[in-house]
Amino acid sequence: MKDVALGIDIGGTNTKFGFVDKEGNMYGETSISTVKTPPGDVDAFLKYLYKEIEVLREQIQEDLNIVGVGIGAPNGNYFTGTIEYAPNLSFQGIVDLVKLFKRYYDVPMVLTNDANAAAIGEMIYGGARNMKNFIMVTLGTGLGSGFVANGELIYGNDGFAGEMGHILQDPEGRVCGLGRKGCLEAYVSATGIKRTTFRLLADMNAESPLRDISYNQLTAAMITEQALKGDPIACAAFEETSRLLGQKLSDMVAIFSPEAIFLLGGLAKAGDLLFKPTKAYMEQYMFQVFRDKVVILPSALEDRNAAVLGSSALAWKEIGIKVD
Ligand SMILES: [Zn+2]
Repeated sequence: MKDVALGIDIGGTNTKFGFVDKEGNMYGETSISTVKTPPGDVDAFLKYLYKEIEVLREQIQEDLNIVGVGIGAPNGNYFTGTIEYAPNLSFQGIVDLVKLFKRYYDVPMVLTNDANAAAIGEMIYGGARNMKNFIMVTLGTGLGSGFVANGELIYGNDGFAGEMGHILQDPEGRVCGLGRKGCLEAYVSATGIKRTTFRLLADMNAESPLRDISYNQLTAAMITEQALKGDPIACAAFEETSRLLGQKLSDMVAIFSPEAIFLLGGLAKAGDLLFKPTKAYMEQYMFQVFRDKVVILPSALEDRNAAVLGSSALAWKEIGIKVD
């Protein structure tokens, strides 16, 4: 019998899950559709999720003993175990997720948002193993972040601390996913760079293959591909995105004094295109005492399943097992 944590990442489109032992070895992982069951019906979704988890468990040679469950979900509240007004999920209002899912697995169960789970994954299995102060920034559809200070993830008074994506970039600016104006994530994320690219296509005259792609078809990966070829519009989009990210990271450094900042997710895959200018801008805007002290690193979970590893790390941390 092998003790494992069940790590679950509930996303707007897909829900990923897998079994992870305390050393970070994955025993099977898979993904199901979050939108297969009727919209808003949490019970139906959890029943379906449970069934699929057990299907996966059956397929694994070894006998797995689930000792804890960690769940990452948008607007997941660590203190209450609830998902509250999640922007990308069909569940309405406040959903008592942990309480409902404990009917299936009566073991220690914890919930937080996906970026916080990624931060804990980095701390337990990734590049932050020996760090007590670091910031995790996830650059996907939105911008998520988790802040670790003095060795602890900061949950804040209400459980929602560390939402760098919703700090104000421009009060009169772009509307974000929650209808608020000017949030950083409307600029710095896979979606943000796409919006910036379209603005640049209107502002600049340069020829670019990006002109032939519709807004709905354009992806951050296409912008990356063009920027690597030296396309002036795509390069300008990366420049602008990196400048905003670098500026805001210098603000974060002034408050948290981290040892490192980890970048994870779709846009972080652009590598030097994003990391180099972001670091340069961060240093340019940095409060002197912090200059040249903070590194920006790719997440060590990037090519592994960060979402599942992160949520299972959350469970292991809750159980209190120290992982070396
Ligand atoms: Zn926002």
